[in-house]
Amino acid sequence: MSCDGKNDTFTATGVGDQATPANPMGGPPADPAWRRRGFLGVAAAGLGGLMLAPGIRLIEIAQAAAPQAGTPPAASTAGSPASSLQAAGVAPGAGVNPKVRWGMLVDTTRCEPGCNDCVDACNTENGLRDVGGPPPKSTDAQWIRKIEIKQISTGRSSSLPVMCQHCAEPPCVDVCPTGASFKRADGIVLVDRHTCIGCRYCVMACPYKARSFVHEPLSNQKPDVPRGKGCVEGCTLCVHRIDQGNSVTACAEACAKAGHHAIVFGDLNDPGSEIARRVREIQTTQLRADLRLDPGVRYHGI
Ligand code: SF4
Ligand code: SF4
Repeated sequence: MSCDGKNDTFTATGVGDQATPANPMGGPPADPAWRRRGFLGVAAAGLGGLMLAPGIRLIEIAQAAAPQAGTPPAASTAGSPASSLQAAGVAPGAGVNPKVRWGMLVDTTRCEPGCNDCVDACNTENGLRDVGGPPPKSTDAQWIRKIEIKQISTGRSSSLPVMCQHCAEPPCVDVCPTGASFKRADGIVLVDRHTCIGCRYCVMACPYKARSFVHEPLSNQKPDVPRGKGCVEGCTLCVHRIDQGNSVTACAEACAKAGHHAIVFGDLNDPGSEIARRVREIQTTQLRADLRLDPGVRYHGI
């Protein structure tokens, strides 16, 4: 496949070394980022589940950054994404369930070329842009974008949305000097706007070009989705919805409403969920799977 859309080549530019360097003195790895995240983990454990911002609790940073030795592997829970939380005894919004791995499946055979409904829904949901508002500037933040790709040998083209892939091994987290870029225990990769210094290392490290820098002052923000000039941001998998017990992202909702049903959101670890069943039954692909980042977004039909 070759990509012919804007910003659409999935190159590995800037991907950092994934291995954690060993400490020659023994004990924890010598990598300063590892130590910094370890410190955050200890601090978070001491402060409990203090809410910093929607989707960001210190306890979740601890769980995400400092997994305990002997922690059992993620187990599956029955039911829909919402019931996965309930079945695990977690009230909506009460915290992050480490048994869950949120993800999305994009069926490109159902994605309509020229349709932008998922992009519009994301922009509206997160306060990025109003539909029908002034035309976007090239520097505007973009959390999801539509691309067209074409197979050179056959000429077959596909239309698909690309957003943060919520990698299990996210290079954006590895390179962040402040710990602002982090992965929650349920697989959602976020930026803590309180500690992001806008260095944009993560933007360079992301092979999917999934992060944006906010250049301009912002107004009329959504209370559930705080943003800020000078910070980096990207798709949150509508974490504010998930933490309120909602089981669908704005993009998946809009796509279904338009009758396409090209986006399925859910818990990849739940064998009873629609996304897990579809991933079991049909051939799916992770973009740039060769990078071994284990994205939580899967694609069918490419
Ligand atoms: Fe990080 Fe998302 Fe890029 Fe993966 S796709 S490297 S999680 S910003
Ligand atoms: Fe971390 Fe913010 Fe720098 Fe990205 S821009 S690496 S989130 S401090």
